Amino acid sequence: MKDSFGREIKYLRLSVTELCNLRCRYCMPEDGICKKSHADMLTAEETIAAVRAAASLGITKVRITGGEPLVKRNVVSLCRSVANVPGITEVCVTTNATLLGSLAIPLREAGVSHVNLSMDTLDPDKYRYITRRGELKDALDGLDAALNAGFDKLKLNAVLIGGFNDDEIPAIAELSRKYPMDVRFIELMPMHDGGEFGPDAYIPCAKVLEYLKDAEPVGQDGVAGMYRLSGAKGRIGLISPVSAHFCGACDRLRLTADGKLKPCLHSPVEYPIKGLNQEQMAAEMKRAILAKPPCHDELSATSRSHAGRTMNRIGG
Ligand code: SAM
Ligand code: SF4
Repeated sequence: MKDSFGREIKYLRLSVTELCNLRCRYCMPEDGICKKSHADMLTAEETIAAVRAAASLGITKVRITGGEPLVKRNVVSLCRSVANVPGITEVCVTTNATLLGSLAIPLREAGVSHVNLSMDTLDPDKYRYITRRGELKDALDGLDAALNAGFDKLKLNAVLIGGFNDDEIPAIAELSRKYPMDVRFIELMPMHDGGEFGPDAYIPCAKVLEYLKDAEPVGQDGVAGMYRLSGAKGRIGLISPVSAHFCGACDRLRLTADGKLKPCLHSPVEYPIKGLNQEQMAAEMKRAILAKPPCHDELSATSRSHAGRTMNRIGG
């Protein structure tokens, strides 16, 4: 269905857990989160009822996210159930890839067509630093497994952090030359308590092009401006939520693991659906879609997101 500003809402970002095996400094507090009672989270049945409700309103694409979706024990069967919902034509997973080594093939067989994996550095020490605990090798094993699992589309996302990984832009971009995979750079978003980053950390995506002299523009793919390095198998994507927000093209609704519909990532407005039946969920989804604002407030190092949650509790 269309929102009040004529935008067709086709895409549900479905967070299936707030928990994560990493603690990325821009996303999650070091001591994790206050683990909620099971009873506060959507059950698997409620989650699938919500996807059915979304499909009844014309949503065709679902992205399973988190927290880290792959720490959830029933993630494969959940993906299979989502893929089996009539009207859902695209099931995507966003993951830090550290558990993808053993899960890539089961997810593919369950009907997952697209995988986005997050990797901000190719340096093992920097990886350990930014994730506060992760091992780069696990993520690289996950990437390898994903490349071999035959997904329709694979993307690697790196959050651009000035003074941390801007010196790695050429090396990260090179992955798109080597592998049939898009490499996307995403501007760091200033979440309300998202880490200890100073103003210099917030660098615009345009900076990427200063490092990639042979990048040719090849159009737009969703919210990403696309480029290709000469002879590359994949493309480079630049996603600029801070320097050039893409609210005018927003086609998404978010559902958190604790059952709150979020019309806008950067707004505290939420519509609870926990405990509702499918029909009632669809009615709340309509309300949430019609409540989508035309645009979020300005974001900058000094003007932080009003999301009211850390990113692991939203889903990105
Ligand atoms: N754990 C999975 C992962 O890391 O891919 C899925 C959840 S994570 C919240 C989804 C995406 O949000 C990741 O690509 C992550 O890098 C991104 N993200 C988290 N906090 C962010 C921030 N403050 N600014 C920009 N991107 C952020
Ligand atoms: Fe976990 Fe993903 Fe957040 Fe990193 S970005 S802490 S992997 S949820």
